[in-house]
Amino acid sequence: MSSILVYVATQDGKIKRSSLEVLSYCKRLSEENGLSLEAAVLDADPARFTDKIASYGPSKIYAVKNPAFSNHLASALLEGLSSLISKINPRLLACASTESVKEVIGALGARHNAGVIPDVASFAIQNGSVNAERPVMSAKVLSKTSSSSDLVLVSVRSGSYDAVESPAETTVETIEFDFETAALKSLLKEVISSAGDKVDLSEAEVVVAAGRGIKDEQGRKLIEDLADSLGAAVGASRAVTESGLFPATLQIGQTGKVVSPQLYFAVGISGAIQHVAGMANSKVIVAINKDADAPIFQYATYGLVGDLFKILPLLTEQIRTYKAS
Ligand SMILES: Cc1cc2nc3c(=O)[nH]c(=O)nc-3n(C[C@H](O)[C@H](O)[C@H](O)COP(=O)(O)OP(=O)(O)OC[C@H]3O[C@@H](n4cnc5c(N)ncnc54)[C@H](O)[C@@H]3O)c2cc1C
Repeated sequence: MSSILVYVATQDGKIKRSSLEVLSYCKRLSEENGLSLEAAVLDADPARFTDKIASYGPSKIYAVKNPAFSNHLASALLEGLSSLISKINPRLLACASTESVKEVIGALGARHNAGVIPDVASFAIQNGSVNAERPVMSAKVLSKTSSSSDLVLVSVRSGSYDAVESPAETTVETIEFDFETAALKSLLKEVISSAGDKVDLSEAEVVVAAGRGIKDEQGRKLIEDLADSLGAAVGASRAVTESGLFPATLQIGQTGKVVSPQLYFAVGISGAIQHVAGMANSKVIVAINKDADAPIFQYATYGLVGDLFKILPLLTEQIRTYKAS
């Protein structure tokens, strides 16, 4: 009854950065509130992640093992997390707001009669309650939500906190999770990543996003060259995905992906609120736009007013030269 449990999500053999952000913040939260910090990883081979998780300071890691966890099906995750809650009885379960967590958090809350606060930008424990702020209405409004349930489930938007290592003495408990795969009504046979061998947009540290200002294939090439020089993922505004220059899977915004990289380039993007809803959490925003009054400059850390067709080749060349030296 006195612990914070953090569910650490994994994908393609890697821990999700957003989970480490939540774990780092919960380390601080647990110390401030005299609670213990525990972490759980659910995977076919969870042992491969425990060293990395330990470096973020939980006192205990539950390594929950079953081949069903590798198929990304919600029912396996729901059963796994549910049995952990029954076993550990934590005060708070905190998770990164991943697609899988979005799928199961409501059912998990209903099953355990818990307070559920999904998709928060920040949260804290005050006077025994969990208080959180959630961006709503395309992030135009911050809603304050509070729960004083015995168990509270919180999912946290990516980029809300920094991932900071803080090693501590950690014990690992391996749980051979008994889950009847044969009972599954659906099976996942194959995952085809739209990112291919390119950097995955939702986990990228650097994103180069293209707007209508790129106009055509020539502009598209300039975006790809800049992204390539930085090892960045490419994103796009809806104007560009609708024009067919980039696939819909790269759209960032209210009806696209939400990203929170360390560095976000908005190139030829005006800064409509529906786009900003998907990238406002980026740490450093660089806007390149020929219109000095474009709304994107209100969100930018650095602004370059000028023609992207002149700026991008120079920028890419400088970055390549710098990297080569
Ligand atoms: C319900 C709803 C949901 C939506 N969801 C999304 C969403 O998820 N994501 C999203 O992006 N949009 C979304 N939109 C659309 C959104 O409202 C905007 O229309 C869209 O974001 C505009 O894209 P843009 O900034 O690329 O284009 P524009 O607004 O046309 O801006 C183009 C910019 O490029 C600049 N420019 C032009 N040429 C150059 C040049 N040579 N050099 C430098 N700068 C140049 C211009 O000054 C301008 O600021 C949604 C809209 C609705 C109604």
